[in-house]
Amino acid sequence: MTICLTLSPVAPDAATIARAATCLRDGGLVAFPTETVYGLGAHACDAVAVRRIFEAKGRPASDPLIVHVADVAQLGAVASHCPPEVARLAERFWPGPLTLVLPKGPSIPDDVTAGGPTVAVRIPAHLVAQALLRAAGVPVAAPSANLFSRPSPTCAGHVLHDLDGRIDMVLDGGDASVGVESTVLDLTTTPPCVLRPGAVTLEMLREVLPAVVPRLATASDAPLPSPGLLDRHYSPRAPLSLYQGLAPTRRAAMLRDAVRLSTGGMRLAILAPAAELAAFDAAGATRVVPLGPEQGLAVMAAALYAALRAADSPEIDAILAAGLEETGGLADAIRDRLRRAAAGRVLTCDS
Ligand code: AMP
Ligand code: MG
Repeated sequence: MTICLTLSPVAPDAATIARAATCLRDGGLVAFPTETVYGLGAHACDAVAVRRIFEAKGRPASDPLIVHVADVAQLGAVASHCPPEVARLAERFWPGPLTLVLPKGPSIPDDVTAGGPTVAVRIPAHLVAQALLRAAGVPVAAPSANLFSRPSPTCAGHVLHDLDGRIDMVLDGGDASVGVESTVLDLTTTPPCVLRPGAVTLEMLREVLPAVVPRLATASDAPLPSPGLLDRHYSPRAPLSLYQGLAPTRRAAMLRDAVRLSTGGMRLAILAPAAELAAFDAAGATRVVPLGPEQGLAVMAAALYAALRAADSPEIDAILAAGLEETGGLADAIRDRLRRAAAGRVLTCDS
């Protein structure tokens, strides 16, 4: 049985937080809201509890977890040492959607780091996460609270859809505001490298650390520079094809394929800017879901995973998704997640 407890995202009830913190300290699994996506927490120094995360999610042991702490003082319990940049980055970006990869401390079990010598750590800003971490008083390992390789959860309903009966508790604190996972910055390499783009953008990081570089795109068969950078991730069950290119050409290619595939009997879901949806309805799509940058990239990022989940269901055979034209800033995080949701099915539509 998974217990679901609702609490205010701005003034979380102390008794509810205490109950969840006790569950964590006792080795239980508690899903909780963060500003990025919902996390599935376990006591990070308890190897048995950490292994339960991998079981509940069906996550391979080779994919390391992010450890969450309440404040910078708790970093010492996680990392063996902190390079001087940590203080400057913490001052600017913590609490917030930035994860730092640091040398691992001895109290963190190998299960957390996929056997590696480094640990990823973050201080989340969400007040429920903050309150829970403070009450627990221990570092909390927490990957996204979804089944492995599926779209991340941005509300408690998504968590229950994937994990009901597999975890002890869900704290329902409403919708995640950022909607995509944290930026992961590796400080153990020279130069420091962004392993996963997120809401703390490359441009923002360079204001503090000018040397930061993005992770270079690797050929799909090249070995990954670190665990957990799988090319198929965040994917709906129905295969998703991503259409990239300038809007008119991209739209024409999507419409052409929508007509061809639906005429052939395929039940299609379309993810595209709201203004285009009527045309896809007319082209025979079974389901149309708005997803585009018209209200700004922050709104698009917050809506991304709910849109991927809304497009997906057993009645849908394939999903066609409109890519972003924009690059840089938050667009890089959205492009990264859409590309992985497509697991390589990316069509570049040039005129
Ligand atoms: P999540 O599923 O949101 O918890 O994200 C975990 C991701 O953080 C992994 O898939 C990796 O991309 C990254 N990560 C975690 N720990 C490390 C580490 N020690 N070194 C490099 N990347 C890491
Ligand atoms: Mg995840």
